[in-house]
Amino acid sequence: MQIIPVDDFDLVIFGATGDLASRKIFPGLFRRWLAGQMPSTSRIIGAARTDIDSAEFRTSLRETMAKFATKEIEDTEAFEAFLANIDYISIDATGDKGWKPLAELLRPNVIRAFYLSVGPSIFGAIAENLVQHKCADRNSRIVVEKPFGRDLESAQILNAELRAHFKEDQIYRIDHYLGKETVQNLMAIRFANALFEPLWNAQHIDHVQITVAEDIGVAGRGGYYDKSGAMRDMVQNHLMQLLCLVAMEPPSQFEADAVRDEKLKVIRSLATVPRRDIVRGQYRAGAGEESYITHSENPSSSTESYVALRVEVENWRWAGTPFYLRTGKRLRARATEIAVMFKEPPHSIFGKENKLPANALIIHLQPDEGITLNMTIKEPGPGGMRMMEVPLDMTFAEALGDAADFPDAYERLIMDVIRGNQTLFMRGDEVEAAWTWADQIIEKFSENALKPSQYDPLSSGPEESLALMHRDGRRWRDIE
Ligand code: NAP
Repeated sequence: MQIIPVDDFDLVIFGATGDLASRKIFPGLFRRWLAGQMPSTSRIIGAARTDIDSAEFRTSLRETMAKFATKEIEDTEAFEAFLANIDYISIDATGDKGWKPLAELLRPNVIRAFYLSVGPSIFGAIAENLVQHKCADRNSRIVVEKPFGRDLESAQILNAELRAHFKEDQIYRIDHYLGKETVQNLMAIRFANALFEPLWNAQHIDHVQITVAEDIGVAGRGGYYDKSGAMRDMVQNHLMQLLCLVAMEPPSQFEADAVRDEKLKVIRSLATVPRRDIVRGQYRAGAGEESYITHSENPSSSTESYVALRVEVENWRWAGTPFYLRTGKRLRARATEIAVMFKEPPHSIFGKENKLPANALIIHLQPDEGITLNMTIKEPGPGGMRMMEVPLDMTFAEALGDAADFPDAYERLIMDVIRGNQTLFMRGDEVEAAWTWADQIIEKFSENALKPSQYDPLSSGPEESLALMHRDGRRWRDIE
């Protein structure tokens, strides 16, 4: 795999002592270091309130990396060289402490990036302090984590807080789904092959299913999740982004604003979702598993741990082709996929007894990344023409061998920040449009009729979600 090193940089990670930094950001950076993508002079500066010095921070990193990058740190020489480039500053985002030392530590004439791996309530204070203390200039980049707001109004406030100090071309709003190899491959499949695009419309596609299923529940983060729910936590951002990439028109070029303009047009084409096309669910206790409520801290919580929607994209390409979205916790398996279900052949020349299955293109994102094309062929052997469905499978790990050892989403996205490439980040207007659409669904939740239905742990979700499909004469693909 060809590795193109990025230019020299100083990367400041706010929230360096937190969960995300420990599990994803530092291990990811170390993998890029091992891959030779980071210049040996590049520096990482951890920042959080915890009062420790750089040496103590590096000691704590040795412990966390032993947990989250166990294999990688076996290369002890490389790991020590990586650690030598890491500093730490105790800083209070909302106070004065630490800002002057940070400004003094940053080098002139290298790229400066500030990763805000902290809660959104302190995005504004950090942005302001960065500029006030001359840590950031017009060439600096600021990266913000999800959640980007909990509704349109709060997202607009966050946008205003960031834009008061940074221009839109400096702001990188992370949706880590966009950093996944397969998600980008979806664009390659569509726009680098002549095969699919002529069929990619309502005339040939019956419907699209997008599933993000998790087998784990909310244990450990019930308090946070209860204020959010599946609609805010998953649909408004991740599922919406996947829908956009399936439904968008070809951008004029693979360039940040061209791609984001097309995604924005999709979001603006989404129809208002009527109540009958919304299913909410909450997992109950069963089979030795605890219920959602057990972990939510609120015994009468009506937050949904599952949501399914039937969504229409009102434009020429997609008129009449529904997109079914579903996501939930504590389901049968951990599986994320986009299934593009083609229409059945209009007529079977092989007789009525030979019902021809429709072709399907399945893009798997989790647990393994890959693509499957379901084709119909003749059942092998003598005895006439009987049809059978076979999957043409391409699991990237198998098909590409070593070349499939690609960076995970966070690694790729951080390198894109240093390169100044915003293609895989959400633009402010995109996020606001997504909230405008999500808000009209969330508003319907407060109506009694949309109380979440209970579903069994390790099931496929509430009965109502099966009914949502049956009503249209369709069925969900199995979660496996
Ligand atoms: P966390 O474990 O609670 O860590 C928060 C970090 O922020 C800590 O390092 C904390 O350190 C620091 N912090 C808090 N207040 C601060 C202040 N006033 N000034 C400076 N530093 C401060 O949270 P997390 O799970 O890492 O999540 C961080 C962000 O990423 C959140 O917005 C979260 O929604 C998002 N996110 C997390 C995940 C995940 O898997 N964890 C996934 C997607 C998105 P001190 O206490 O030492 O100050």
